[in-house]
Amino acid sequence: MAQNLVIIGAGMASGRLIENLLEQDPQAYKITLFNAEPRGNYNRLMLSPVLSGEKNYEEIITHSDAWYEDRGITTYFGEPVLEIDQAAKFIRSASNCAPYDKLVIATGSAPVMIPFPGINLEGVLPYRDLDNVNLMLDVAQKPQSKAVVIGGGVLGLEAAAGLNARGMDVTVIHISDHLMERQLDSTAAGLLQKSLEARGITVHTQGATKEIVGAERVEAVKLEDGTIYPADIVVMAVGIRPETRLAKEAGIATARGIIVDDALRTEASDIYALGECVEHSGQLFGLVAPLYEQAKVLANDLLGHRAVFTPIELSTKLKVTGCDLFSAGDFARGADRDEIVYFDPISGIYKRLNVQDNKLIGVVMYGDTVDGAWFLQKIKSGEDISPIRETLIFGPNFTLDAPPDPLVAVVALPLDCTINSYDGPYFGKYVSNQLGGDQIAYGKYVNPKFGKCSDMAGAVINE
Ligand SMILES: Cc1cc2nc3c(=O)[nH]c(=O)nc-3n(C[C@H](O)[C@H](O)[C@H](O)COP(=O)(O)OP(=O)(O)OC[C@H]3O[C@@H](n4cnc5c(N)ncnc54)[C@H](O)[C@@H]3O)c2cc1C
Repeated sequence: MAQNLVIIGAGMASGRLIENLLEQDPQAYKITLFNAEPRGNYNRLMLSPVLSGEKNYEEIITHSDAWYEDRGITTYFGEPVLEIDQAAKFIRSASNCAPYDKLVIATGSAPVMIPFPGINLEGVLPYRDLDNVNLMLDVAQKPQSKAVVIGGGVLGLEAAAGLNARGMDVTVIHISDHLMERQLDSTAAGLLQKSLEARGITVHTQGATKEIVGAERVEAVKLEDGTIYPADIVVMAVGIRPETRLAKEAGIATARGIIVDDALRTEASDIYALGECVEHSGQLFGLVAPLYEQAKVLANDLLGHRAVFTPIELSTKLKVTGCDLFSAGDFARGADRDEIVYFDPISGIYKRLNVQDNKLIGVVMYGDTVDGAWFLQKIKSGEDISPIRETLIFGPNFTLDAPPDPLVAVVALPLDCTINSYDGPYFGKYVSNQLGGDQIAYGKYVNPKFGKCSDMAGAVINE
């Protein structure tokens, strides 16, 4: 008889877990899914295109109500789980209980809200879910409304660009001296800032927020240097924290996240954790690619096949149309490192490769990112780049001694590489096999469920 599998959290990671499980053995478990949000799995990554108006919510739903029903999955949406009873092996929400044979905690992360004076005013919100987006859109409808975004990292800038596209007057306040300092060096960040300013977004770097001003609703943000920015809405995007509360209260070992082993098992019997809520070998996760790996490993373990989770090398992109950037690996400067740089300020193209011991260890690109996946592959492989050093910065078109051809970037990818880490993985081999086909052949590479192709494939399609 099928065992009871209860999953807490219907997010990106658990959605992938359920798919992996059902693909391998649809009969193995009777699945019950609880979600705090009043809806099932949707593509959280695509909230930014929803905010900017490039997509609507229906387009980013990954699993519809009918999908769960057809597969016999019992769902409780809008029902946060409040308690895990390890001894009796059941979980409890406000109005339901569910017994489990195996339990997966996939509660994601909570956005960090810095407790500035005024943080609880109406109109101050994080950027995490559809409800946040809907609240922002309500305010954006008001003519000449103003938004202040605190945090100039990926999420903050995607929020800022989305609100700007909706016609709001947007200011980004960022504490560091350049935007996205964890992913970009100052040159790339400068180009990004110029591009954001060109569309009317005000960027205030080295800006320390002092307080959020207002009576009941937010009216302004005041900085330590005395600057005041009027605001109808304040979006705080300064980081995330693994959502560990349930596990902690149930006595399951946590540190910064819920501690798991290589098979995603917690130290509690028959309880696993998955996604951004976990801590694995001291590492936390904030991007979806490693979570998909986790989902694969966990599905295998639940089906009795031993598998081992190994974190993968990640890259960053920004989902802001017109701001093409790519960053991967370690791009910090150092005496033991060499830089290979291409910079054309007029066309706004910048590429910097960081090389150590004849190996590519990091890359930052702005303006032309078409070769990003190829560079990422070089970082992952750790291969000796000295034979191709002179032309490396120009990418596979030149390095492989081939005539300039946009398809070369795709052909040059190794067969097992991931070319789209956040929607993927899709493999070089698959795309290579489509070569010689027409544009529709490339279209197949786009996963219709996620509705997004990589910039590289996009560039190929557009040629
Ligand atoms: C706007 C935005 C854009 C992003 N863009 C990218 C990107 O381009 N690339 C990328 O790699 N990553 C991106 N991310 C990060 C990515 O979305 C996360 O890494 C991913 O969603 C984490 O998946 P998860 O399943 O661990 O958690 P989530 O997707 O957050 O799902 C967790 C779910 O658990 C629910 N939950 C929490 N507590 C309980 C409880 N007690 N009971 C029941 N349910 C509970 C929550 O309501 C939530 O629905 C983005 C994130 C945001 C917010």
